[in-house]
Amino acid sequence: MTSAELRKAFLDFFVKQGHTAVHSSPVVPGNDPTLLFTNAGMVQFKETFLGQETRDYSRATSVQRCIRAGGKHNDLENVGYTARHHTFFEMLGNFSFGDYFKREAIQYAWQFLTEELGLPEDKLWVTVFEEDQEAEDIWLKDMGVSAERFSRCGAKDNFWSMGDTGPCGPCSEIFYDHGPDVAGGPPGSPDEDGDRYIEIWNLVFMQFDRSEDGTLTPLPKPSVDTGMGLERLAAVMQKVHNNYDIDLFQAIVAKAAELTGEKDLTNSSLRVIADHIRSCAFMIVDGVLPSNEGRGYVLRRIIRRAIRHGYKLGQKDVFFYRLVPTLVEQMGEAYPELVKEQANVERALKLEEERFAETLENGMKILEDDIAQLNGKVISGSTAFKLYDTYGFPLDLTADVARERQLSVDEAGFEKEMEAQRARARSASNFASQGQHKVDYNEPTEFAGYHQDEANAKVMAIFAG
Ligand code: ATP
Ligand code: MG
Ligand code: MG
Ligand code: MG
Repeated sequence: MTSAELRKAFLDFFVKQGHTAVHSSPVVPGNDPTLLFTNAGMVQFKETFLGQETRDYSRATSVQRCIRAGGKHNDLENVGYTARHHTFFEMLGNFSFGDYFKREAIQYAWQFLTEELGLPEDKLWVTVFEEDQEAEDIWLKDMGVSAERFSRCGAKDNFWSMGDTGPCGPCSEIFYDHGPDVAGGPPGSPDEDGDRYIEIWNLVFMQFDRSEDGTLTPLPKPSVDTGMGLERLAAVMQKVHNNYDIDLFQAIVAKAAELTGEKDLTNSSLRVIADHIRSCAFMIVDGVLPSNEGRGYVLRRIIRRAIRHGYKLGQKDVFFYRLVPTLVEQMGEAYPELVKEQANVERALKLEEERFAETLENGMKILEDDIAQLNGKVISGSTAFKLYDTYGFPLDLTADVARERQLSVDEAGFEKEMEAQRARARSASNFASQGQHKVDYNEPTEFAGYHQDEANAKVMAIFAG
């Protein structure tokens, strides 16, 4: 089954069960300054879960474009290292706003996987939140799932929250066993972080609203929010283990190989580049442009990481933006907004690439020299700061290089240099560079929040001018 067929099969199945199909919202959440990026399908329904907004349906289904590259859910450092993480991915979801609850959510999920898609039950593994006896009974007694492929897990994995505040609740997850050839233990075991048992679907039983002080207030009505990664499901259905081997990625990886001259299609830098073009392109589609703060800085950091991976493969000219046409071929049908914004995406990426190209090579030389002379395993904060300040190397880019060589960066030392520079800037002038050099990795920034059309208009205006 192709990814396009899977998107359709999922939506069709839930529409048949009385759900309204809703188009993906942008990766920049409208009116939600608490959230850096849309990290799940439920984000556009947040107010509906909280009872602050009513819709003319109580069941919905969607394929949501998501970014997990900052804030509570951040997978940037997993990309290139696991088989299952992207910074950008598509989340298949079904939602109940005070309509059905645990039993139906579980029944629908099991029916979709085992009947619609025909997945063998003995390849699936189920977990519940350790205190959720009700969910356990539904799985074991009513659904007849084997206790051998079932575990109870703690809050870390089985109590889902959108962010530090907002809707949350206990969850139940379904994993796919990719077989003994892959390293990793079952969920709940000490080596659960391996990639043998890959989590494919999370069923969240939304029951609370978490406030800033951590208090959990029950929602007006218990609800359901589920999320299944399209790419992980596609890997299962296409009988490959690694997400980067699915149809959606093949052409992009191949194009990245062509543009960088790398022959080995499993090279992790190619996968990183293929991942990053997706998140960068969709951020720009949804109104983000590279900058030194907030979302724009996340975008800048990801673009620069991608370019550095190209450089690592020997490509010293601009190449990254040239992946956009291939991306549009793969994703344009599902996301017409990408087609509409293609030219702007290419322009913004090319501009950023040209800007960084001026300093990347010299910065890399400095870093290589530093590493060659290193006594020990830690790159100094002052080197990281010099790379940041003079050569435009975000700290995480330097750390990415370091990690490849089994080294690390003295982040505290870097912060100290940053603080010293801020102090210098403050004393030199009371108004210059305020906030300009803020390294904002995870903190959500105040963001007015605008909708797609406004976002598009903004991008257009910037480029027209
Ligand atoms: P994992 O434990 O593998 O990191 P998660 O528990 O963080 O996943 P959830 O927050 O439960 O993921 O999100 C719901 C579903 O979205 C997951 O079951 C998975 O299929 C998919 N998913 C989550 N993060 C990613 C990612 N970074 N890339 C691709 N798919 C993802
Ligand atoms: Mg995760
Ligand atoms: Mg998980
Ligand atoms: Mg999960």
